[in-house]
Amino acid sequence: MREHFEVRHGDALGRIGALTVPRAGRTVETPALLPVINPNLETVAPARLEAEFGAEILITNSYIIRSTDDLRERALDEGLHDMLDFSGAIVTDSGSFQLAEYGDIDVTTREILEFQHDIGSDVATPVDVPTPPDVSREQAEADLETTEQALADAAAVDTGEMLVNAPVQGSTHLDLREAAARHADATDLDVFPVGAVVPLMNDYRYDDVVDVVAASKRGLGADAPVHLFGAGHPMMFALAVAMGCDLFDSAAYAIYARDDRYLTVRGTKHLEDIEYFPCECPVCSAHSPAEIRAADDGERERLLAEHNLHVSYGELRRIKQAIRDGSLLELVETRARGHPSMLDGYRALLDHARQIERHDPASKGSFFYCSAESARRPEVVRHHDRLARLDTPDSLLLTEGNAPSGDRFDAAWRLLPPFGPVPRALSETYPFTAELPDRTDDAACEAAARGVAELVAANPETDVTVSHDDWPASALGMLPASVTVEPLGARPDRVE
Ligand SMILES: [Zn+2]
Repeated sequence: MREHFEVRHGDALGRIGALTVPRAGRTVETPALLPVINPNLETVAPARLEAEFGAEILITNSYIIRSTDDLRERALDEGLHDMLDFSGAIVTDSGSFQLAEYGDIDVTTREILEFQHDIGSDVATPVDVPTPPDVSREQAEADLETTEQALADAAAVDTGEMLVNAPVQGSTHLDLREAAARHADATDLDVFPVGAVVPLMNDYRYDDVVDVVAASKRGLGADAPVHLFGAGHPMMFALAVAMGCDLFDSAAYAIYARDDRYLTVRGTKHLEDIEYFPCECPVCSAHSPAEIRAADDGERERLLAEHNLHVSYGELRRIKQAIRDGSLLELVETRARGHPSMLDGYRALLDHARQIERHDPASKGSFFYCSAESARRPEVVRHHDRLARLDTPDSLLLTEGNAPSGDRFDAAWRLLPPFGPVPRALSETYPFTAELPDRTDDAACEAAARGVAELVAANPETDVTVSHDDWPASALGMLPASVTVEPLGARPDRVE
């Protein structure tokens, strides 16, 4: 067990956790946002991040500090916490990003870890190789060997109480990601960044991000805190949390602000296109878009950065409340409507419904069926798996109506889209108290028909009758041939 990370509440693969950072004397609640602090260019001072935004943790780059004479001297002399004026937990990156950008850096894992320790970092990073997406398998494997050597070098350094990151690489080769995660999990390192996904996010390939995270999660233990490196856009936080990511770093809040770009949970807007701010944060409440456009460069950048931070922290609070409510997937579904590529991300998440189902709580608040995608949720997959294990009588009615009077059937179960057959005894339990629209879509009926097929396959002796309320031909066509089909209104013993 990793004693420094405790999962307190879960929903899908998302969790509210407590990351104990011993060197900082802090326990950070996750999911957490780590604003990126460029020590050469502070957009919002760390002390303000702590006091006004509630930042418990941030990230800065030890390679930049080490390569800049006056910063290096100050960091060694004062320590990072005093230098940045921040009392929370400080994570330091190693220069791997610079390695990926420029092809070479002049520091080893041992040197940079010792430097990070000397300047008072709370969570340090070795020099891994961030392999970009879509490279050849040979390159991904060769890079991974270097990364795994860096993890071994890191494990050999005496880092005291400082936690150490074990980045997971492997490009878009999902089996390599899974193997890399399993290797990282087997070290005694502490935090597990999923690396080199920024190019995927820049290209709006959220479905590929989901696949990479899912593969990494398969290799990591449930007690492993996961950092999605470089993920700073609030529109994808809910999706990433639902896939099991715990930490996010945002350089986006400052970089976008420099470019007059305004973050929202539905995507990015340009300041010049905004007439009304769709936001209640202190910046947007106190200023009109025209006022911010008229501000000088420094002031405009600072105000936009503050808004970008408010919307990012606000989304993480919303996500944590959704985890407590058991409605995280409903939130992901809402976010999926913000951009077609987010819908691809959500659909990719549903491709992993069985992996998610193994960790998803058995009981939550209420299942809301909000789109055809809801028919593929983990709760539906779980019920279909369970149907194969249920005992059935000799003759069974599955009906969307009320239980019939008389003794024509040995038992009558509910027929409930998208789940399918539901024994009456389970009717009042999660997820069968689901709220559905009255105008059921084809996907819900088709999923219910798949459930019927599962039940029939497991109980071939049972004589099954399905009484449906105007199902489409696509769903009726999925019912096994042995099933007797009666439209709901046509049954003589129908009781309303
Ligand atoms: Zn705002």
